[in-house]
Amino acid sequence: MKVLVLNCGSSSIKYQVLQMPDETLIIKGIIERIGEIDSIVEAKNAHHKIKEIMAVKSHTEGIEQVLQMIVRPEFKALESVNEIGAIGHRIVHGGEKFSASTELTDSAIKAVEENIPLAPLHNPANLKGIVACKQVLPKVPQIGVFDTAFHQGLPKYAYLYAIPNKYYEKYGIRRYGFHGTSHKYVAQRTAEMLGKPIEDTRIVTAHLGNGASVAAVKGGRSIDTSMGFTPLEGLIMGTRSGDLDPAILCFLQKNEGMSSEDIDVLLNKQSGIIGLYGKSNDMRPIEDGYFAKKELETLIMTMYSYRLAKYIGSYMAVMGGIDALTYTAGVGANTPPLRYIIAEFMKGLGFGIDEELNLKVIRYGKEVDISSEDATVKTFVIPTNEELAIARDTYSLVTGV
Ligand code: AMP
Repeated sequence: MKVLVLNCGSSSIKYQVLQMPDETLIIKGIIERIGEIDSIVEAKNAHHKIKEIMAVKSHTEGIEQVLQMIVRPEFKALESVNEIGAIGHRIVHGGEKFSASTELTDSAIKAVEENIPLAPLHNPANLKGIVACKQVLPKVPQIGVFDTAFHQGLPKYAYLYAIPNKYYEKYGIRRYGFHGTSHKYVAQRTAEMLGKPIEDTRIVTAHLGNGASVAAVKGGRSIDTSMGFTPLEGLIMGTRSGDLDPAILCFLQKNEGMSSEDIDVLLNKQSGIIGLYGKSNDMRPIEDGYFAKKELETLIMTMYSYRLAKYIGSYMAVMGGIDALTYTAGVGANTPPLRYIIAEFMKGLGFGIDEELNLKVIRYGKEVDISSEDATVKTFVIPTNEELAIARDTYSLVTGV
């Protein structure tokens, strides 16, 4: 079966077609700047590569473009869109309604709509993709795979905030966590690399991309994670502050006359690496500066690692130790100094990495055990593959296999 995987953002559609259950990638691409006159339409596979500029006015037009693109003969991918057996959608927020992937029936779509207040930027875009597919391919089953689902099993003492309970009851203010599809995929691969059934493992997964989160995975289930009610909480990220004293917000509102919108922009878009560094939100110049022994870059790299080390240590405490720490995503897989600093902070707890191997693991795409021989906690670098995880869930729900 050919499965179309879609990740619809507010102005973009990322897509892949995978042959299942073989798990081979047939074609992938992206449409950007939807709604503009100069939208960018890209597709590539082993046979061919296309990048075209055209006006893609809406998500429906975007989905139509995707379907035209994947049947172009140059790609030798699909002869007809009728070969698509199922569609898997990445959906950011499943709230408390979805603890697993699900078929997008009318009532499931309604539940995704009801979660819009929890993810006002993301869920509407995801819904546009679902509606467009229903219009263009009405007979093809559609499955929703939620970023929050893996974390729905967190115990109540981990997901509640210590504020009056009425706000949980009224608005659903609690920890949801995100990047769940990635944490789950990487935890499964980690158990395989440990050579143990996942039920017998305690793993910390660090998904460090432009957005970043860390999860405590015990026996294959997420029991805690650093992102919270929104993706702002937790680690230092590309443009997000992560944890801070909430009283800082009141202080800034009073002393800088900032509105809640100003604070939202400050903490989500102007903080983290870009806030500290000023020039970019990218970890690469920070890494270059760290190697050149520049003061600011070294400070930022150390702050980033220190925050992460504190989370890993706290998850070790609540799980009674761990078997492995796994790094994934753009920063996690490509930043040796960060992994080195963490190993140094945590060497008293059994961490140790092979420094040469750590430096060599710079090419995103390889699964590597970078632990030193004497380490009692394994350290892995495992590239995430959220699209494959979505295709697996989609295939298994549609076929029952
Ligand atoms: P992601 O959100 O997983 O796509 O990760 C994007 C981030 O990964 C970028 O903002 C960079 O900071 C980081 N990144 C990508 N490639 C590298 C690299 N070679 N070295 C360090 N960081 C990288």
